[in-house]
Amino acid sequence: MQYCVRLLFHPVTTQCGHTFCQECIKESLEYGPKCPSCGKTLNDSNEKKRNFTVVLNDLSRIYLEAQYMEREELHAKKVQMWRRIGIDQSVEVPILVGTMAMLQGRVRLTLSHPCQRVMVRRSFEWGSRMFGMCLPNEEKGFTDHGTIVEIQATESFPGGKLVVQAIPKQRFRVVSRGVMDGCPVAKVEWLEDAKIDDYGAILHLKWRNSVSHLMLKRWVAALPLVEKACIESALGPMPACESHLLLSPNGPPWLWWAMAAVPLPSQEKTKNSTITKCS
Ligand SMILES: [Zn+2]
Ligand SMILES: [Zn+2]
Repeated sequence: MQYCVRLLFHPVTTQCGHTFCQECIKESLEYGPKCPSCGKTLNDSNEKKRNFTVVLNDLSRIYLEAQYMEREELHAKKVQMWRRIGIDQSVEVPILVGTMAMLQGRVRLTLSHPCQRVMVRRSFEWGSRMFGMCLPNEEKGFTDHGTIVEIQATESFPGGKLVVQAIPKQRFRVVSRGVMDGCPVAKVEWLEDAKIDDYGAILHLKWRNSVSHLMLKRWVAALPLVEKACIESALGPMPACESHLLLSPNGPPWLWWAMAAVPLPSQEKTKNSTITKCS
């Protein structure tokens, strides 16, 4: 990891006496607990919590006013962009490539890649706390469909591991792909299920909903007790069969529960999470 070579912004001095921008040293520490200047081992949990040196920051602001203003503006723009992620469709969404996120279920992610940790931290500290999740795709890097998730909590472990608890918010289709600070990003378009007006089709859909729910109920009832307890402790109890099926914008909650609980290949899960019309 390289730190920026611009005017120090919110400068932080490490134990070894070297000074970096607060954001630069935090990012660098995700790649390893060493000072980027002299290589001395640092206690990364202490360094990440360090406040910036007000006097040094004030000196830059007073004596290098134009440069400081430029940095401040750049930072404000970045923060503003992070705040609009998942809210404004014109803003690119950082993509975490990995496990499929399940709507209505809780998502627990273990991140060991530094770039992913930087993204999650910025999203949590600066932004809307939202980012996108897609499955890996050999050809394109990540799949054409994914889910926006909202961070609920994060927990750091020694060795750099970061565990994130999140809830799925919105399904999307990837419009274009890009890279921001070394991490994948995408312009996305929200997915919404097509509305069904035909009375016969609604009745058929309700019937299919009840039958499928009953099948899932039987599958759960036939599970060994230990396995059932395991699933319920991770996902909560199986949701009831919804009577107001058409009011739910993302389909019945039990379906998302089933997708997390039933062992299906990931392609099948992607197919299910991207259906916008019942045929
Ligand atoms: Zn810097
Ligand atoms: Zn140093």
